[in-house]
Amino acid sequence: MTDTAVAPTTPPDTATGSAATALGVPTTAKPHSLVLSPVKRSGLAEQLKAGLDAPICLTWELTYACNLQCIHCLSSSGRRDPRELTTTEAEAVIDELQRMQVFYINIGGGEPTIRSDFWHLIDYATDHGVGVKFSTNGSRIDASVARRLAASDYVDVQISIDGADAATNDAVRGEGSLEVAQQAMKHLHNAGFKGFKISVVMTRHNIAQVDELEAMAARFDAELRLTRFRPSGRGADSWYQLHPTEAQQRLLYRWLLDRPEVLTGDSFFHLSALGEPLPGLNLCGAGRVVCLIDPIGDVYACPFVLHDEFRAGSVRDHGGFQRVWQHSELFAELREPQSAGACASCGHFDACQGGCMAAKFFTGIPLDGPDPECVLGHGEPLVDAARSARPSLALDHSRPSPVKLLARNHRAART
Ligand code: SF4
Ligand code: SF4
Repeated sequence: MTDTAVAPTTPPDTATGSAATALGVPTTAKPHSLVLSPVKRSGLAEQLKAGLDAPICLTWELTYACNLQCIHCLSSSGRRDPRELTTTEAEAVIDELQRMQVFYINIGGGEPTIRSDFWHLIDYATDHGVGVKFSTNGSRIDASVARRLAASDYVDVQISIDGADAATNDAVRGEGSLEVAQQAMKHLHNAGFKGFKISVVMTRHNIAQVDELEAMAARFDAELRLTRFRPSGRGADSWYQLHPTEAQQRLLYRWLLDRPEVLTGDSFFHLSALGEPLPGLNLCGAGRVVCLIDPIGDVYACPFVLHDEFRAGSVRDHGGFQRVWQHSELFAELREPQSAGACASCGHFDACQGGCMAAKFFTGIPLDGPDPECVLGHGEPLVDAARSARPSLALDHSRPSPVKLLARNHRAART
């Protein structure tokens, strides 16, 4: 799974370059341009809110198949969907992205390397000027794959883990999964791949390990990427047990402020209400600068809102992805100025923007209400009240065996 993050590219001009950097988009070599819509609003954030001709950050989940069954999987992956895009259809999407000058894509899943045409599609994308960052659990990154990846300027890799030790990680991702991920990191490191990403969703149990995670990234010449736990997919249930406490969020905020080099995909902007804004654009990019293509070609406003209400169309529809991105009613609506609703009187609204739409939606809070993790505590009572009214999961590719949070046998979280 994935959200806004990095891959190798050069943002073409100051404005889009800043946008790209703020969103964690690439900073090295790849000459493609972003085309800003002719909007009249002032300020980059306002421009981005009104949408771009092409997404800055496009996540493409290639398959719902996965060899793990993480407790918080945002796409509830496990089983392959028989309607998955064919190789020819996937190539046609890449052709379209090239025409739209989408300069890089985040590929995820499920475990994308499970697709038999995965490497072909990676090569096809880079041969057509579309850089790739793909997220993986590491299980298929052996020494030879690592050498191949290290040799490419246009492919970046993100290894997902959920803790600095096996007890913490494996409780969420399954037994042995940290060892497998670290083996992949070793292969990448030994192959000379500098700057691959180690990506961690922040939970109640691993937030105390941020220093250790930072050290792990340094050990492998990797970059650390921390993202917010949203209650999407299987995370819709596990969020209640795993999402960070208010005190932990404050600690994380201060830790991140001191470390602007840690990537976050702008995902903690709700914490900017605590004071100095965190680096980033501090806006919800859904349908404005980000979106998701799922394995069957459906297009959603962001990777964390896999639900009919946020489905804008399909790449299989007439006009393909470009038509969905540029003309769907849903995206047009999301690009309109949004009501501050219940947050209108909050002095922190400019920084926090009322938080994350996905987090509100899947906890049953109205979209113009406060974020469930509102740092002023306005979300919590609503979460409790709305729990029984949460939307049901529209998409679930989990394998039949129930996913349970494994017992953790490690030190307690710091707060
Ligand atoms: S809905 Fe949440 S995760 Fe999606 S783009 Fe908006 S803020 Fe980010
Ligand atoms: S009340 Fe709304 S705008 Fe203010 S901090 Fe909470 S979520 Fe953010």
